[in-house]
Amino acid sequence: MIKLKTPNFEVCNNRKIKYIIIHYTDMKTLSSAIKRLQSKVAKVSCHYIISKKGTIYQLVNEKDIAWHAGISKWGKDINLNDKSIGIELDNNGFEDYPNKQIKSLIKLIKKIKKKYKIRKNRVLGHSHIAPDRKIDPGPKFPWKVLNRNNLSNLY
Ligand SMILES: [Zn+2]
Repeated sequence: MIKLKTPNFEVCNNRKIKYIIIHYTDMKTLSSAIKRLQSKVAKVSCHYIISKKGTIYQLVNEKDIAWHAGISKWGKDINLNDKSIGIELDNNGFEDYPNKQIKSLIKLIKKIKKKYKIRKNRVLGHSHIAPDRKIDPGPKFPWKVLNRNNLSNLY
């Protein structure tokens, strides 16, 4: 795990983490995606970003609020940034997710899920919580693999 800095977060000391939200970066390269997640102008961030090789970078502490979900809703919950951990995957939206990347994602989700006792039906994609605006992590994302690992109930 490699720690990076970003100005894009809100300090918080008592939030309840109920969701894990998965994204793709929609960028051509990892470095351009990280640059954007660190840009004061873009005002976006996530807790973790995972490279194609499976390296995990942390940008925001889990206790703090990262800016990845935007206007979003799931059940009675709105604005899920407050209640979630956001994970970005380096992917331009059209390519397959390499095994190494998914392996690291699974490890990370297992750890977070256990730590905050998150139910598997609250491991979601950006597209689930903002269906009018977002399609990530997209049709290439292997929900079945997460499912097999008991980390999701999506297909
Ligand atoms: Zn997203």
